[in-house]
Amino acid sequence: MWPRNQVFQKRNRIFRKVQIDYCLTGLLLNGYKITIYTEMYITSNEFDIFLLPFVHIKHTIMAGNITFTMIKPDAVAQGFIGPILTKFNEGGYIVRAMKYTRLSQLQAEAFYAVHQGKPFFEGLVGFMSSGPIVACILEKENAVESFREFIGATDPAKAPEGSIRKLYGSSIQKNAVHGSDCDENAVIESNFFFSRFERF
Ligand code: ATP
Ligand code: MG
Repeated sequence: MWPRNQVFQKRNRIFRKVQIDYCLTGLLLNGYKITIYTEMYITSNEFDIFLLPFVHIKHTIMAGNITFTMIKPDAVAQGFIGPILTKFNEGGYIVRAMKYTRLSQLQAEAFYAVHQGKPFFEGLVGFMSSGPIVACILEKENAVESFREFIGATDPAKAPEGSIRKLYGSSIQKNAVHGSDCDENAVIESNFFFSRFERF
């Protein structure tokens, strides 16, 4: 194996990395980003040049294709985790991260900070920290917009028949699930709950 340091000694010669030459990067196959590149090294006699080829393959979630969701305390308490996860599955959403947890009051305030000052804010924070939730990062093409349509309107009474909020929500506050409202917030909300080691 070749050491990956900037400078290293091998076979009585000192090798110094002088250049990283990216040949091909950003090739996406089924969510896998493939980067092929070479690293150039010169040796201590300054005459020999070595080119080392590398292939780097990493699974990447494409920006714009993820949304963040929570199964809210009302739905969890009524035993709807299973049916709601099944709905995600049926809707073509792939779970990239998932966590069963409970928000503290401070965390709920921070998560819904955009609603601070609105008449429903205190009730919302109390409700969201009242019991465990299931947090998920979901992946699908155009995830944010399609998921909001999929779960239905904020008020379950106005959500279409068969939608998650219609089926499992009971009021404008207790509406079963959360869905990010834009790509930027999907990333912010995902980072709120998950480290990069918890996403697959
Ligand atoms: P979410 O952000 O949870 O996906 P949403 O984007 O459909 O829902 P928002 O306007 O962001 O709706 O409101 C956030 C949450 O605050 C709602 O999901 C609901 O739980 C609660 N909420 C919103 N409006 C009201 C209201 N008028 N009365 C009580 N609670 C409300
Ligand atoms: Mg919202």
